[in-house]
Amino acid sequence: MKLATCLFEAAAWHYGVKAICQCGHAAIFDPHGLWYHFHRHGMDERLGRVREKLWCRECGRRHGKRVRPVKLEMVREMPSITLPLPDQREWKRVVNRFRG
Ligand SMILES: [Zn+2]
Repeated sequence: MKLATCLFEAAAWHYGVKAICQCGHAAIFDPHGLWYHFHRHGMDERLGRVREKLWCRECGRRHGKRVRPVKLEMVREMPSITLPLPDQREWKRVVNRFRG
């Protein structure tokens, strides 16, 4: 298993991005949609930075607080959250640049 350091690598290698909260709640993001979200907003897509931008919906609902996940794991599991996906052409263009 290759070690992804940023969302783009996670997406290129088809890993789900699992965000795990201290409360035990976890969500698995489709990596393409998550990458595209960060990419479109010009946000830092390194995984350490991504973790700081995510927060647990369960904790938000229960305590009204934005609790960051304790860790992000790269998994081979079906995503539970799929954000809008990049256009296929745009994705291929970025992948080609990455392989370049
Ligand atoms: Zn939580």
